[in-house]
Amino acid sequence: MAKLVYDFAEGNRDMKDLLGGKGANLAEMTNLGLPVPGGFTITTEACQRYLADGRHADGLAAELGEHLEALEATMGRKLGDPADPLLVSVRSGAKFSMPGMMETVLNVGLNDESVDGLSRQAGGNDRFAWDSYRRLIQMFGKTVCDVPGEEFEHALHHAKVAKGVKDDVQLDADDLRALVTAYKKVFLKHTGHDFPQEPREQLDLAIEAVFRSWNADRAILYRRQERIPADLGTAVNVVAMVFGNLGPDSGTGVAFTRDPATGERGVYGDYLQNAQGEDVVAGIRNTLALAELADLDEKSYAELLDIMTRLEGHYHDLCDIEFTIERGKLWMLQTRVGKRTAAAAFTIAAQLVDEGVIDLDEALTRVSGAQLAQLMFPRFDLAGDPAVLTRGVGASPGAAVGEVVFSAADAVAAAATGRSVILVRRETNPDDLSGMIAAQGILTSRGGKTSHAAVVARGMGKTCVCGADALEIGRDRFTVGGRTVREGDVISIDGTTGRVYPGEVPVRPSEVVQYFEGHLDPALANEPLVAAVHQLMTHADAAAALTVRTNADTGPDAARARRFGAQGIGLCRTEHMFLGDRRELVERLILAHTAAERDDALGALQPLQRADFLEIFREMNGLPVTVRLIDPPLHEFLPSLEDLAVQVAVAKARGEQADRDERMLAAVRRMHESNPMLGLRGVRLGLVIPGLFAMQVRAIAEAAVALAAEGGRPRPEIMVPLVGAVQELETVRAEAEKIIAEVVAGSDVQVLVGTMIEVPRAALTAGQIAEAAEFFSFGTNDLTQMGWGFSRDDVEGAFFWRYLELGIFGISPFESIDREGVGRLVRIAAAEGRATRPDLKLGVCGEHGGDPESVHFFHEVGLDYVSCSPFRVPVARLEAGRAAIESTGSDHR
Ligand code: ADP
Ligand code: MG
Ligand code: MG
Repeated sequence: MAKLVYDFAEGNRDMKDLLGGKGANLAEMTNLGLPVPGGFTITTEACQRYLADGRHADGLAAELGEHLEALEATMGRKLGDPADPLLVSVRSGAKFSMPGMMETVLNVGLNDESVDGLSRQAGGNDRFAWDSYRRLIQMFGKTVCDVPGEEFEHALHHAKVAKGVKDDVQLDADDLRALVTAYKKVFLKHTGHDFPQEPREQLDLAIEAVFRSWNADRAILYRRQERIPADLGTAVNVVAMVFGNLGPDSGTGVAFTRDPATGERGVYGDYLQNAQGEDVVAGIRNTLALAELADLDEKSYAELLDIMTRLEGHYHDLCDIEFTIERGKLWMLQTRVGKRTAAAAFTIAAQLVDEGVIDLDEALTRVSGAQLAQLMFPRFDLAGDPAVLTRGVGASPGAAVGEVVFSAADAVAAAATGRSVILVRRETNPDDLSGMIAAQGILTSRGGKTSHAAVVARGMGKTCVCGADALEIGRDRFTVGGRTVREGDVISIDGTTGRVYPGEVPVRPSEVVQYFEGHLDPALANEPLVAAVHQLMTHADAAAALTVRTNADTGPDAARARRFGAQGIGLCRTEHMFLGDRRELVERLILAHTAAERDDALGALQPLQRADFLEIFREMNGLPVTVRLIDPPLHEFLPSLEDLAVQVAVAKARGEQADRDERMLAAVRRMHESNPMLGLRGVRLGLVIPGLFAMQVRAIAEAAVALAAEGGRPRPEIMVPLVGAVQELETVRAEAEKIIAEVVAGSDVQVLVGTMIEVPRAALTAGQIAEAAEFFSFGTNDLTQMGWGFSRDDVEGAFFWRYLELGIFGISPFESIDREGVGRLVRIAAAEGRATRPDLKLGVCGEHGGDPESVHFFHEVGLDYVSCSPFRVPVARLEAGRAAIESTGSDHR
């Protein structure tokens, strides 16, 4: 039978699955010879079994007993011994850190008798012993028996008020003794029984409580948001207590081996004298900067710095640390590779390469596209150190400034007059959509990363802060922490950090974007962050198997994407070329009675299109440009049915002539579709309106020949949308080939013809379709819509929040590709397409092309390129490099 308990000396850092992060690293530190208190770890497997069966795994009790005895022997004390007690902490620790989600109980083993033994151990320090005892009842009550924490807080508060003091350190032994009595009453009142006096019972109950905390509501919610699997379970660490609350020569602290905000090297952390456990982070007293420990306890400080250097050398990364000093003796209580900001992630990775600690491949695994995206948003300039109004969850990144409005209607009205607004709501619902579109940003007082506001805002790329729960929202004002903000007042919200500021905080463009744009402010040229991004991007490009193209419809977009590193255009939509003053031509096309009238309208459109294409081909000279023939239904280019009907009715009532309007109305009626996304669009339109595709093909070919004549190197690719059957493509292709042959004759221009794979039937018959296609481009937006039967415009606002809340999916399938379903269609089509035509080029042009997770998937499937919006190009480049390194099974991971 598998071992369920490991002594710290038996584990190591690679055993996170079994021992959890905390346990694995405590073991690692123990084996490095660092001063770690004795202890052992109960495995995640024991937790899984407990949660599945509702009772402890067979053999756990016996193993636990053996390890406890061994610990008692090493320490020379017995758990809870009245004369000289061993005390332990019972600490949760899952594979992935889940800050503040699960529970820890300190000072287990104290009771009415051993509290005196503890005092004697500490040289008659009654105050310390009773302080430890009251902490045990408080933590045990809260975590093990669900006693509301506030009840204990109240009792503590009363004790301080009665004594007329502010800090709990000012309470003496008698005060704390009285507090223990008060706590016991609270405990009895809520549980119906006395605080358990038996040490082993305390230990067993605490272990069970840690197991159960894996399934606490907030832990479940956190796992869903962070996409941590629900079945991992937590390990439990039992650790001999060391005491930071023994007096001024004791204390507890946290430390980082580098600045987790910027990555700078130095001494970072906080220290609190005469304190235990979470006091440092709880903010109950003012902490000292870690460097000040040098004056208080030079020896421990020096030892700590030495250990920090060793840990960094060992983990090859930034580490964060929890430590305690007991009467001048340093103890290490935790370490792990520390969390850091996006900027610090890049800087530290590059620093470690420069220091020769890691290689560039490894450095790439230490950063992510999500972090790069964060660095590309404009940011608030916090140089003036603006006061923070409140904090919520950073639900959709960005920096937004605007006047406060409280309704969608007000947001729309204000935006119409050109004012920037922040829409403030308790929570949002589908009725708020228009307001959310109109606003610069959204602030809510309820809900988290999966709330309606968060999901919709992320979908729109709009800045959003959710769940700022200190906010009291009224009809025309909100209050927070005693401050009132009225409708029309300006606030600033940071969708990355979740901070909300009163007034206008200046926004500055991201230096990383300036770097990509190539016009970096000279003052920033030596920024370590910019240098780090440059170094890592260069390596990503070298490592990547996928190339990255962009979705761009205009020359300026194409140029920008090229500066961002795009290696071609994967999707050039032609629909905007039918808008603006060209609508009139489209109307003529639709109203044409005769072939001559129709050819006339097409003839007028053709040179305009040719000019558009030439501009784009020039910007992408030498790189492939995939042009999609017109996709949306034609009636999208016509006036609305309602408007027209009214115009015609009014004209008739006035006895006016409305011939043209009437003809238009009839045409719009004729073309009206109840479900246009599934109607006459894409290739279907091309097959129904003679000459339409032919005109576009000719414009493309002519533009290419024109560029070649200028000495350029055009690489046009014509893409037919919405194909479901090879016969559709064959028909279009036959006509296109004739035109191309005629236009390019005498030049060395080559034009490829291929198709989008966006209808499920196309994916499933890809082997046939590849007969007629030189390339496939997966239109994963439509493939997701049609694969799931989701109308994107409807579902995201209507019910996706609920699906996310229920965990039906962890992330919207429009944000990140659904590997098992839609992804399977991609796999099938890629494999069957290549079986027919081995040199078939494969790419992706849906929004998934810029999503980090999806990029990894497309790499795995073996596509040639991904295409995404210009702004996402650097993110996709970085992830393409990371995907290649990960799949070569680099031994760093
Ligand atoms: P978290 O995962 O929330 O940080 P921990 O298990 O690390 O929880 O413990 C909470 C606090 O108690 C930390 O500050 C930790 O350093 C402290 N602590 C845990 N075990 C001991 C111990 N054996 N002796 C002294 N302090 C401890
Ligand atoms: Mg900790
Ligand atoms: Mg489509």
